[in-house]
Amino acid sequence: MTDPDILIVGGGLHGLSAALHLARAGRRVRVLEARQVGAEASGYSAGGVRTLGRHPAEVPLALAAIERWPAIADLVGDDCGFRSVGQVRVAENDAEFTLLAERVEGLRAAGWTHEELVDAQAVRQLLPAVAPHVVGGLVARRDGFASPLRTTRAFGRAAVAAGAEVIEGARVAAMDRRAGLWRLRTHGGETHAAPLLLNAAGAWGGRIARAAGEEIPLGFNAFQMLLTEALPPLLTPVVGAAGRPLSFKQSETGHVMIGGGHKGRADLDSGEIRLDVPRLAYSARTALDLFPALHGARIVHAWAGIEGVTPDDLPVIGRSAVAAGLVHAFGFSGHGFALAPVVGAIVAGLLLDGPETHALAAFAPARSQLCGPAAETRPALLQPAG
Ligand SMILES: Cc1cc2nc3c(=O)[nH]c(=O)nc-3n(C[C@H](O)[C@H](O)[C@H](O)COP(=O)(O)OP(=O)(O)OC[C@H]3O[C@@H](n4cnc5c(N)ncnc54)[C@H](O)[C@@H]3O)c2cc1C
Repeated sequence: MTDPDILIVGGGLHGLSAALHLARAGRRVRVLEARQVGAEASGYSAGGVRTLGRHPAEVPLALAAIERWPAIADLVGDDCGFRSVGQVRVAENDAEFTLLAERVEGLRAAGWTHEELVDAQAVRQLLPAVAPHVVGGLVARRDGFASPLRTTRAFGRAAVAAGAEVIEGARVAAMDRRAGLWRLRTHGGETHAAPLLLNAAGAWGGRIARAAGEEIPLGFNAFQMLLTEALPPLLTPVVGAAGRPLSFKQSETGHVMIGGGHKGRADLDSGEIRLDVPRLAYSARTALDLFPALHGARIVHAWAGIEGVTPDDLPVIGRSAVAAGLVHAFGFSGHGFALAPVVGAIVAGLLLDGPETHALAAFAPARSQLCGPAAETRPALLQPAG
């Protein structure tokens, strides 16, 4: 094996998107993935592609990403199941509607027009089966969803076709930097060295940062999802609620996917996840409140995926504040799937010392908003043993 220019820890969507962009720029890239491509958050995601409701710091990234999704096949050779069906966030009372109206006003003042305030009648045109108490909502018409595992694998295949190496079953156990090279040792005992390193280790990104000598607080959640049996057509856009956690969509096969941030329990050392059934039931009830036609639908599957979550709910994207040749892209806090096509390009630019294409201060590894107690501080294992 020829020595790479760049090592990437993590074969999730973000590691693979960066690998693709770097390999296309002519760099020798090696991705070390502890398990398999897409084995963590990227493969278990809900796949929502959303500009709607983003934190202002993320809006430019989300808008850049939504430009790329309709032509994602040009980037990775697969349309990734992307469907531009729009996303709607419904208000269930006047107070929520007022908050949505204020949000749109704030966005307009900043020059953003991608979110539209719509009244009850317009919501019902978009969502004929929505409950009668809904009073209005916000719509982002270009948003949609894609297939998570298919997308992650497509990025992996495209990266490999462009010349990147992706090594599965290579869990990084230790690292140091000597004589201008990052040296990574895996649990299997192999060593890999390169002058540049990308930490794209998802929920384990804080541990990789710590192993590189940088303390970046990162917690994690096991976000839960439910899937119903195939149902007759019920809705086209992806639906969220202004006042409670909900993400709700129907695939072309008729299965309805219900998520929205209700958490199970997870252990980062073992990689084990336990579903929290009462919280799943709460998600199901929320969906029923908004779509009474779901009454009697059978749940056929439930799962959860472990995702890194920062104290300010924004990802860590940027050059290390303490170590040379190290860039971080992790902690996407439950909303990183949609951003991957653009963040991969940004991260590749940082590693290649290219011009900054986006303002990244809000995502800086050393930003003050991250200075809270780390929710996850154990140094021992860098990755689950599973
Ligand atoms: C249930 C669920 C629903 C979601 N829904 C949405 C949504 O609708 N829209 C949206 O935009 N986002 C969503 N997200 C978030 C999105 O899926 C994630 O932000 C994104 O997939 C994170 O990608 P990643 O590459 O950073 O992390 P991951 O996919 O977790 O990849 C990190 C990889 O690093 C590897 N790794 C860790 N430690 C090591 C080590 N020591 N050595 C080698 N490899 C290591 C892991 O095995 C893993 O494969 C959801 C997440 C979940 C869990």
